Amino acid sequence: MFENRLKKRNIRPTAMRLIVLKELYESEVAMSLSELELKLENSDKATLYRTLKKFEENQLIHSIDDGSGSIKYALCDEGCTCDSKDQHVHFHCEKCLSTYCITNIGIPQLTLPKGFISNSANLVFKGICLSCS
Ligand SMILES: [Zn+2]
Ligand SMILES: [Zn+2]
Repeated sequence: MFENRLKKRNIRPTAMRLIVLKELYESEVAMSLSELELKLENSDKATLYRTLKKFEENQLIHSIDDGSGSIKYALCDEGCTCDSKDQHVHFHCEKCLSTYCITNIGIPQLTLPKGFISNSANLVFKGICLSCS
């Protein structure tokens, strides 16, 4: 199953890539590079970083800037093309510091002033998550 998911995104399955994908798949919340490094004891940061970059380039995962200072990564839906219709709202819990994908809420399309061309938008809600409230 994990192998197929990599192949569908034109990523050659290696042991490391499979482990990282599995970890992101099993996590309910988005994970940062350092969190992944802690979880995967036998990994080095450079390899992990390259793995995440590759995943992101091939639209297997997306990155989230939740304002915490470290970029988080989460798995994309299977049919995701990471364009504006796939972009969704994120929620950052100020208590447990977890960041969630709220995939069923899209980012509203707003009209920017003339001459401003947007490539992406980032909408992060902050507050208390379900398990902390
Ligand atoms: Zn929480
Ligand atoms: Zn997300």
